[in-house]
Amino acid sequence: MKIYKALDSASSNQASCLRVLLSKNESGQIIFCENCNVAELELGAISLRIDAGTLHALRGLLADAVTRLALYQQEKAIATQQSAFNCSVH
Ligand SMILES: [Zn+2]
Repeated sequence: MKIYKALDSASSNQASCLRVLLSKNESGQIIFCENCNVAELELGAISLRIDAGTLHALRGLLADAVTRLALYQQEKAIATQQSAFNCSVH
């Protein structure tokens, strides 16, 4: 794959890197290097190297944000409906 070639040439000084594609979707991908114990989070042109432990914390961070965003949008939709109702009453 093209992406693996790019990564390998970018860190040719680390010949012992053993990269595994953990996850991939339309937002980006996460590759884990077993020897470095580092996960590489790639979002478009941005690449972040985070340790395996931080990956767990990051999952919690993202899950929490998704949950709170859904609640926020839900509350906002209800508030909008209520204000629309109030306007029609007055
Ligand atoms: Zn490595």
